[in-house]
Amino acid sequence: MLEDLYQEVILDHNRSPRNFGRMENADHHADGHNPLCGDRVTIYLKIQGDALADIRFEGSGCAISKASASMMTESLKGKSLAEVERIFTGFHELLTGEPKKVKPQDDLLRKLVVFSGVRVFPVRVKCATLPWHTMRAALENHHETATTE
Ligand code: ZN
Repeated sequence: MLEDLYQEVILDHNRSPRNFGRMENADHHADGHNPLCGDRVTIYLKIQGDALADIRFEGSGCAISKASASMMTESLKGKSLAEVERIFTGFHELLTGEPKKVKPQDDLLRKLVVFSGVRVFPVRVKCATLPWHTMRAALENHHETATTE
């Protein structure tokens, strides 16, 4: 069931986050903060041409924010910037869109669908979307802190 899968995936990524740790030669980075929960995340990006060649994150926060950041790096690494934008929009719709209208169209979003379980908890939605908003801020090269507020 989705709830069990949700638990399992989140716990796994929380226990062993992918692409975790500082990137020394990052082209872009941004810090994110979710004051409601206390999550903090820094996203590092390396852009080559129009592709996201590398993405890493570090920070501290609840299991949902950490798992979301970890899965985001897995989903976006190596993708074109146009795809990054499409996946960002799709993920955002999963969490905040009209429940019946949201259908993940591709494999990438199908993996991320476990996060749709948090949509009924507004505070948790902010935990899950924090890394994504921070990634967006890094892309736009904003060096101020992104916040969920
Ligand atoms: Zn949180």
